[in-house]
Amino acid sequence: MVERVPVGSTTCQGQIEEYKFRGGLITAEIVIESLDGNLSAVKPIRRVAMVNNLIFWTPRKSFCFDLLLPKGWRFADAGRNPDQNLRGPRVEKDKKLVYVPLTPSCQKGNSDEFWYPGITFFGMRLATLHEITHAIVYSKMPDEEYQRLAVETYTHYLARQKAKKVPENIKNLFITDERNAWAGAIRYLRQLRQNDVDLEPYLSVPQIRNFAHGYLDA
Ligand SMILES: [Zn+2]
Repeated sequence: MVERVPVGSTTCQGQIEEYKFRGGLITAEIVIESLDGNLSAVKPIRRVAMVNNLIFWTPRKSFCFDLLLPKGWRFADAGRNPDQNLRGPRVEKDKKLVYVPLTPSCQKGNSDEFWYPGITFFGMRLATLHEITHAIVYSKMPDEEYQRLAVETYTHYLARQKAKKVPENIKNLFITDERNAWAGAIRYLRQLRQNDVDLEPYLSVPQIRNFAHGYLDA
């Protein structure tokens, strides 16, 4: 499924690698630049697989995801994060990064299955549009408001990890933010489909809604 294109040049900052991910009707062409640097709010120094271009070949037209990002933002491959806990899709506003699991990540227990089975798997472009919508909203949000939301999202995450009840006000903020991001993702997908770019050729409209609802109900 993952075909590595032997390019491999080195820049002063890091190693360049080009990948092609093939999955049925979808092919992703990705240029990854792994950098050493102070790119994480959580762990100050670590290697991050930055993505220079995230291009998808769909049945009719190709599409570059970078065009949707707010100015100055970039993608990074969450799947290659050295920290197990940071391999899911997420957004870091201060670093202007949208983390997407391009490579399979977050194994389900000891099985061979992954929570995020790679970018060509069904639903994963929709999930990427979800993260892009978060990035667009957060890039316009005043820092103070963003910090409040970030703390509450993390509290929600911790409570869920420990199967504890989430305080109602926190749940509401988090759910509203999530609902808006899914609505934005579905809107983008629909607009792109109208322009012959079908990023989820295996999903019907009801299946797309179910996919989003699956995450909202979790
Ligand atoms: Zn979200």
